[in-house]
Amino acid sequence: MRLLFSTEEIKEKVDDLASQIRGDYQGKKPLLVGLLKGSFVFLADLVRALDQPLEVDFVRLSSYGHGTESSGRVRVLHGLKTPVRGRDVLVVEDIVDTGHTLSYFLESLARRRPASLRVCTLLDKPCRRCVPVTIHYRGFTVEDVFVVGYGIDWAEEFRYLPAIYALEKAECASKTSSP
Ligand code: 5GP
Ligand code: MG
Repeated sequence: MRLLFSTEEIKEKVDDLASQIRGDYQGKKPLLVGLLKGSFVFLADLVRALDQPLEVDFVRLSSYGHGTESSGRVRVLHGLKTPVRGRDVLVVEDIVDTGHTLSYFLESLARRRPASLRVCTLLDKPCRRCVPVTIHYRGFTVEDVFVVGYGIDWAEEFRYLPAIYALEKAECASKTSSP
């Protein structure tokens, strides 16, 4: 496992994203929608760094099984319960990879007529993109590596790690992946 971003680097980045977001949502009460499970640590830190009135809700979508490749199919495991019509919605994601998950979710949100709809992601892997997605707040750009830690798992492992690591190919191969 190779260290990509230390806890200090992550904290600095989260503070930086929070100040951008705070500036753009002055006098507003945005609805932050976290994509479970991977974004829960990032969202928790972002909310505390934002230190402004806001609401939080979560959805759980699935495009990954227990492997490391996106299936391209998106399933809704837990939909959004908060009404979004007229709200300033900020989707908070851990990683944008192929873009399948976000583009599917953004389309379904847009149909519900929010006042505004933006995306904040901690990590972006532009080299892997299959579907274009507009990202308004981007933390780190990463190469084509499989990352874990800071809430992000591999087959439910490694979420507890306080920093962000790249999992080496051999480590990924030590478990069989599902489609
Ligand atoms: P996409 O639909 O953009 O291909 O993938 C979106 C989701 O796949 C991300 O939100 C994340 O949950 C998962 N994912 C993408 N890349 C990685 C990665 O490098 N590591 C882990 N653990 N999950 C990833
Ligand atoms: Mg995710």
